[in-house]
Amino acid sequence: MSKFNKANPRASRGKTPNSKPAGAKRHVMSLKERQDRLEARRALRLKEQKKVLREQAKQATIAAETEKLRVEGLLDNVKFSDFISKNVGKKAINVIKLLNSPQTDDKIAAELGVKINEVRRILNVLDSYGVARYDTNKDSKGWLTFKWYLDGEKLTELHESAITAKADNGYKLPENCNDFFYCGRCYEEAKVILPFDAAYEATFKCDGCGKALKQLSKEEARALFDEEAAQSAGAVSASV
Ligand SMILES: [Zn+2]
Repeated sequence: MSKFNKANPRASRGKTPNSKPAGAKRHVMSLKERQDRLEARRALRLKEQKKVLREQAKQATIAAETEKLRVEGLLDNVKFSDFISKNVGKKAINVIKLLNSPQTDDKIAAELGVKINEVRRILNVLDSYGVARYDTNKDSKGWLTFKWYLDGEKLTELHESAITAKADNGYKLPENCNDFFYCGRCYEEAKVILPFDAAYEATFKCDGCGKALKQLSKEEARALFDEEAAQSAGAVSASV
């Protein structure tokens, strides 16, 4: 058999157009063509999807940039930035600016060169105003990570209430809280009063000196705020 094939290679080749193997070959061809067409369609779809994704990413970047500028605009208001640094902390403005995209507390601390406990306290106070929120995620090792981000709408509301407040009443306590805490040793310098949640997160210890925080009623906290307001109003009129 093989000898015959070798001797007459054309004999078997000549038969192919009508023989079964030839039919199978044509079938293979059309399968390949279909495969090619599918591949081509898939490639086109992928290309279109990528284009849509690129466009979406571009839009998202533009939206994020616009929002960032808007937030910076709000913070540029002296009355508002004053309100934030007195009610939340001196470094809170820089923290807010970083929350334009979701961040972990340790990344914020590293970025600003601020102690992690101070960043956490600021975030918790911002959280009590509804201005900062967080999502929990599991990282690749299964650890829970908290990513903080800004609630732009809440920041706008806080901005509104801060700049429309009367000059001598620029201090506002979170409304949903009745227990406040402060450090007797650091208050004079830091001017920090913590709502309950933030104090709880700090295990009721001062992040500046480590001393136990003292509790204040809402009235006492307000009295401290009023005192501070009167002092800064005095400072303003003295400097004029
Ligand atoms: Zn202290």
